[in-house]
Amino acid sequence: MKETVSNTESSVYVIDSEYRLVYINDRLQRLFPDLQMGEYCYRGLCMENSPCVNCPVARQSYTHAIFYNKPVQRWIDVSTGAIDWPGHGSCHILLSKSIDEGSKNLFYNLTSLSPYDELFELNLTGNSFQLLYYQADKYVIPLSDQSLSGMLQDMADHMIHPDDRKSFLTFLDPEHILACLPDDSGRHSLTGEFRRLQPDGGYCWVLYTIVPITYSENGDHIVMCFIQDIQNQKLKELSERQLLTPDITFHPLTGLYRKNVFFRLAEDFLRSRTEPDIPYCLMAIDIEHFKLFNEWYGTAAGDDFLINIGRHLKRAQEEHNGIAGYIGNDDFAIILPCRDEILSGLQEDLTGYLQNSKNCAGFLPAFGLYIIEDLSLSVNAMYDRACMALMSIKGNYAKRCAQYDNGIMQRMERDHVLLSEVQRALTNDEFTFYAQPKCNMATGRIIGLESLVRWNHPTRGLIPPGDFIPLLESNGFISNLDLYMWEKVCIALRNWMDNGHRAIPISVNVSRIDIYTLDVVEVFRNLVEKYQIEPRLLEIEITESAYTEDYHIITGVVENLRSAGFTILMDDFGSGYSSLNMLKDVNVDIIKLDMKFLDMSGRTAGKGIGILEAVINMAHLMNLRIIAEGIETKEQAQLLLDMGCLYGQGYYFYHPMPVEVFEPLLLDARQVDYRGLQARSIDYLSAKQLLNEDLFSEAILNRIIGAIAFYEVHDNTVELMRANEQYYKVTQTNPVDLAEHSYQMLLSVHPDDYDRTLHLFECAVSDPLNGSEEEIRRYLKDGRIIWLHLHAFFLRDQNSHSLFYCSLADITEQKQKELLLASLMSN
Ligand code: C2E
Ligand code: CA
Ligand code: CA
Repeated sequence: MKETVSNTESSVYVIDSEYRLVYINDRLQRLFPDLQMGEYCYRGLCMENSPCVNCPVARQSYTHAIFYNKPVQRWIDVSTGAIDWPGHGSCHILLSKSIDEGSKNLFYNLTSLSPYDELFELNLTGNSFQLLYYQADKYVIPLSDQSLSGMLQDMADHMIHPDDRKSFLTFLDPEHILACLPDDSGRHSLTGEFRRLQPDGGYCWVLYTIVPITYSENGDHIVMCFIQDIQNQKLKELSERQLLTPDITFHPLTGLYRKNVFFRLAEDFLRSRTEPDIPYCLMAIDIEHFKLFNEWYGTAAGDDFLINIGRHLKRAQEEHNGIAGYIGNDDFAIILPCRDEILSGLQEDLTGYLQNSKNCAGFLPAFGLYIIEDLSLSVNAMYDRACMALMSIKGNYAKRCAQYDNGIMQRMERDHVLLSEVQRALTNDEFTFYAQPKCNMATGRIIGLESLVRWNHPTRGLIPPGDFIPLLESNGFISNLDLYMWEKVCIALRNWMDNGHRAIPISVNVSRIDIYTLDVVEVFRNLVEKYQIEPRLLEIEITESAYTEDYHIITGVVENLRSAGFTILMDDFGSGYSSLNMLKDVNVDIIKLDMKFLDMSGRTAGKGIGILEAVINMAHLMNLRIIAEGIETKEQAQLLLDMGCLYGQGYYFYHPMPVEVFEPLLLDARQVDYRGLQARSIDYLSAKQLLNEDLFSEAILNRIIGAIAFYEVHDNTVELMRANEQYYKVTQTNPVDLAEHSYQMLLSVHPDDYDRTLHLFECAVSDPLNGSEEEIRRYLKDGRIIWLHLHAFFLRDQNSHSLFYCSLADITEQKQKELLLASLMSN
């Protein structure tokens, strides 16, 4: 109920199509005492000279927006609806409320439904009313040509649940309203809850909120009456109340059997089956991160979720003669015939429902199956087994369903052993870190290090983090390990400096989980204090996915870490969660772009390169520093340098290495660049800028580029699409002749070189980055032959035609010399 009541603390205003204020409520007037009618809202409320960028009114497709209001220095959530305002034609009504930044209200607000479904203006003095806004087909609405008292009676008689009629009439009695509003305690709104009739004959719980207008033209008492749907909250209240009474069969929200009832009835169900030959199975269903969903979007949205899942399961239970139950939280169980089409049908149903719901990415269901073979097992035990199967795939977005088998038991056992081993390993000092240098790729010099944990297992040897970190993250134990690793790194830094050496920054990895379980800001502050280390020497890598999953928490922590002087890297950028757009909102120092997330092979290489280029450009634009990791080849390093990314890390430069190896390396000052990872200091000239800016005249640019042509290749024909002046010069052709004759390139190629020409284009397709080169002979108009060096690049496919860019150079002279030399040699 808290959310809805707080809506009545909204500022309400109405603007006409030109953004001029035609109505403001009293609360808004108090916030902005100088605000005048007729003033532009963006000027009066936001001190802008044009409509705010995020204004939902300016962006017709939005009904909700969040923006920062500079004058009041708060984040504001605004919802809007269309409204016909007396004397001003079609207008917009806006409800705004400030967002409590400490909570995750933002998400809730973003997703909550429009704050009202109906809006009435009631003239208590004149006994008249107007329906200013209503959501079509939501409720049965009263006729407009009646008096206020007539309408209220009509509504009470025909549109309100019989049990609520009396309280409805009392609540809306003008005398009652006038007596209550505004009261001495400064109360400015009245609320009441009733069941309203819906077009399908059902009733929906609604909240009526009455707010007086203090500026009526002729002194009439006018109030606004907002009507909001509170059905879900009501159901929840009801369910909470019913949960206190233990003998209820059905869970009120989902309509399914409650846990104990389900277990009991399912036993009877399985025993009394008429066709015991058909195998049945028990499916456990869990919604990944459901708790987070509730926190982000509010419990109302979460309840909606449960209601709908209950609905799907109920249908499956009825259609396939099964039995379903609600176990609690986000856990459901259903027993169904073990037939693939039934099981996968239901899974698709539920997954589809979640995928098509707003904001549900990442909140997909996971399914665990137990095939019922042994009827002596209790249903409770069957459910446990299905859950074990389910646990084995939690967090695995590629696999959403698992079936219980004995292997699962073994794997869980193994994890269990691993966990106790980790505990032992921590006390036995078996964990250590390797460091991988980060380099200035242009000079090869080391600018910093990254620490990567290694487990020196007494019997199994060196274990990489991939083998144990996921398990430790899944149970929160990772934080113990990380605390230990961070301290190790600090000790190493301290030792290094105590031995009289100059330190370079070393980064540590911070798991998403650490942010929840530790006060990381405090931890890092204490560490640098304890070991007397400059914070700039301890860099912090936080994986990109953390930002998308827990944006508000992470950005808050990052802000505090940065204020404490630490450098923050966004690790694994490009791993797929984030968008380029996100870069502008994120408050990190350095973007760490992982090459392994970019597909640079074959035909799709162009896309990978495009993304790379966009990220680098965007980072420069945002003044973010950038480093690429996972660099394995010289070509990758060169490509990055060409694009303006100066720093890199990867096997091509150094593998991660133990202390004994990297310390001597750092002793050689020529190998180290103590300036660290700099922002781009010398402005680098991108090829695109070169082409875009008026740096060169067309003629000079043509000469710099040389002869170029665009060809389209299909079915062994090569057609010239466009060419530049230099091309005509080299080939001694001209556009006019070409237009009259032919664009077919092969017609002028020496027949012996046909195949090589076609091969040239084929090779260009398979290596989009480097293209392909070939030397061929070509006839001039007068029959003479010239040698051309061609360098072709594949651009794109279009309707089975492939488009290529090709540069051409006349190498006749050189070829003649080569041929002459060859003939001299052979003689
Ligand atoms: P990461 O932070 O993205 O680290 C980079 C990983 O890529 C490291 O794997 C590194 O050895 C590897 N690598 C470096 N250069 C190349 C290359 O050129 N090609 C390829 N294919 N790989 C390269 P590693 O050491 O196995 O670590 C894996 C992940 O484990 C790390 O990914 C990080 O997320 C996590 N991790 C490592 N140490 C810690 C730690 O102390 N705490 C936490 N929470 N996580 C850690
Ligand atoms: Ca890292
Ligand atoms: Ca990484």
